Amino acid sequence: ATGSQKIYEKFMEIAKDAPGVTIEFGPHDKDAHVGVKKTGCQGVCELGPLVRIQKGDDVIQYTKVQIEDCQEIFEKSVQGNETIERLLYQKGGKVSRGPEDIPFIAKQTRIVLKNCGKFDAESLNEYIASGGFQALEKAMFEMDPDLVIDQVDKSGIRGRGGGGFPAGKKWIQVARQADPVHYVVCNGDEGDPGAFMDGSVMEGDPYRLIEGMMLAAYAVRAQHGYIYVRAEYPQSVARLKHAIAVLEEVGLLGDDILGTGFSFHMHINRGAGAFVCGEGSALTASIEGSRGMPRVKPPRTVEQGLWAKPTVLNNVETYANIPEIILKGADWYRSIGTEGSPGTKTFSLTGSIENTGLIEVPMGTTLREIIFDIGGGLKSGAAFKAVQIGGPSGGCLTEEHLDVPLDFDSVKKYGAIVGSGGLVVMDEHTCMVEVARFFMGFTQRESCGKCGPCRIGTKRMLEILERIVDGKGEVEDLDKLEHLGNFIKDRSLCGLGKSAPLPVLSTLRNFRDEYVEHIVDKK
Ligand code: SF4
Repeated sequence: ATGSQKIYEKFMEIAKDAPGVTIEFGPHDKDAHVGVKKTGCQGVCELGPLVRIQKGDDVIQYTKVQIEDCQEIFEKSVQGNETIERLLYQKGGKVSRGPEDIPFIAKQTRIVLKNCGKFDAESLNEYIASGGFQALEKAMFEMDPDLVIDQVDKSGIRGRGGGGFPAGKKWIQVARQADPVHYVVCNGDEGDPGAFMDGSVMEGDPYRLIEGMMLAAYAVRAQHGYIYVRAEYPQSVARLKHAIAVLEEVGLLGDDILGTGFSFHMHINRGAGAFVCGEGSALTASIEGSRGMPRVKPPRTVEQGLWAKPTVLNNVETYANIPEIILKGADWYRSIGTEGSPGTKTFSLTGSIENTGLIEVPMGTTLREIIFDIGGGLKSGAAFKAVQIGGPSGGCLTEEHLDVPLDFDSVKKYGAIVGSGGLVVMDEHTCMVEVARFFMGFTQRESCGKCGPCRIGTKRMLEILERIVDGKGEVEDLDKLEHLGNFIKDRSLCGLGKSAPLPVLSTLRNFRDEYVEHIVDKK
């Protein structure tokens, strides 16, 4: 979006024409002098396009690079040893030469995102050089499958897709099923407005996700794995397809991997853009070729998931944590985050905030730390008003919640959810009724229509919200919204309907005055 592709092409052009320079087009050319590589996202969205120059351990990172800067960068910093001050990140008199010095990154704890933006995401060699596949090697040669499950269970990792169900418990239940055919499925259907964490992992470190899924497959004795990726992520699909092809070629995917007797095959399915396909049973129905609609449970996915077989279904971020857990152990993982929600969480930070981007912080970090320390505060010094957490299924938190630790259980107490990790920050100029209308419009469009409370109820709620925004609302409409919201929440079949009213209910609770103003002032 900021033109990085053009910068990459320009560097390729300059390097090709430079006298005495041999270019490395991939990671395998040992005789090359200069490698020009495309990396995944580093997370600091508003500073792009980024150019990282690495000579041994020395790293210079330039920000907001323009086409006109490329020749100078190549001559001074690639061929020469000069640093171009004006292109370094500078704020408040501080100059950052490397990416780790940038406060936005320095204040994070990166496990899932640790490789993103650092190396060529398509290179298996670079993944292995960073410690990749050591966890799989350890599991296959030193650990019984049950011991792998035991470590994941003891780590306490909870599913990062929104529900927060302990991943280890899911794996135990699948491994226990009598049916010998098990599947491993990854939910990469990240559909929340303002969320782009999983997409960045799939694009920036695809081998990590695959290694995590392979560990799950080894643990629950599955031979096939499916990654369900939303249609709007073509780059993720391309990177994953490439990674799978490379692994098949070197014998790390397929039958009898490295002579261990463990066989695993991977497949990619592209969603067609339906938000409801992020729900487990709709997702598996979609992979099977049926219309993506949730079904009544039980049976649960762990008992009868894909093709009615026991299935481990986790999202991208959950799987991406697994290699590190197996390599460093459950106790190490538990030392990060909170007692009830161990580990880190990725969040995409958007809206009216200085530093937009992708972050990873220990569970339990407060909103204040995220918005003001990492995010740099509100844009143009505006006052903070609210943050929508968890996308359309989540809720609004306000100033009084700034010191609430962000973990699965604490946030729930205030009528919101951590969800998949979208954080949309709103300032004093934001109309909360408009925000509620936006999210209700989204979920109403995405309702699959299977059950009445969600199909009809969200439509009625949207009509009322539109009436209020247009100045045609009545005070009684607020009671109707509350009544309908609670009814839909209690009676809908799946998570989409159950959570659809949350943005309206939480804004009604926290910003009722604004609703009333719309009704009274516009009459
Ligand atoms: Fe479909 Fe909504 Fe019912 Fe879920 S709650 S099954 S999305 S109609």
